[in-house]
Amino acid sequence: MIPNTDWLQHAACAGMDPRAFFSTGNHARAQVNAARRVCAACPVREQCANWAIQTGERNGVWGGMSQQELRQRRRRFTSRAKTSMTAPKAPAKKKEPAKCGTRSGYQKHLRDKTEICAPCRQANTDADNRLRRTGTTRAAA
Ligand code: SF4
Ligand SMILES: [Zn+2]
Repeated sequence: MIPNTDWLQHAACAGMDPRAFFSTGNHARAQVNAARRVCAACPVREQCANWAIQTGERNGVWGGMSQQELRQRRRRFTSRAKTSMTAPKAPAKKKEPAKCGTRSGYQKHLRDKTEICAPCRQANTDADNRLRRTGTTRAAA
């Protein structure tokens, strides 16, 4: 798939000398910084950076990023793509059975028609009291 380049018509660097974005030689650092200042005000710098990453562009400043920064982002981009494509889905977390000594434990006893143990009975009483006091059965955080 050829990456879409419609964003280019909004580029802040349109009409500029492209050499400003491809720094070489002694003044490379100053050139990169000057290019970056143009990018900073560019409305399409995200698209521009992504484009450079997707096409594997290995020269110049794109989306306000130097090649070094683009490389870092490319690594993140590809490692993310890899994980989302190949990582096996984490198994669905089994729901913990309701623990005794909680209100859900109490309710589980009711559902399962098992004998309500003392901790569950206590938890339910506590929750009831909280409900009366605070309007919620939730324990204070
Ligand atoms: S982000 Fe920079 S290089 Fe990319 S289009 Fe905008 S001004 Fe040009
Ligand atoms: Zn219990």
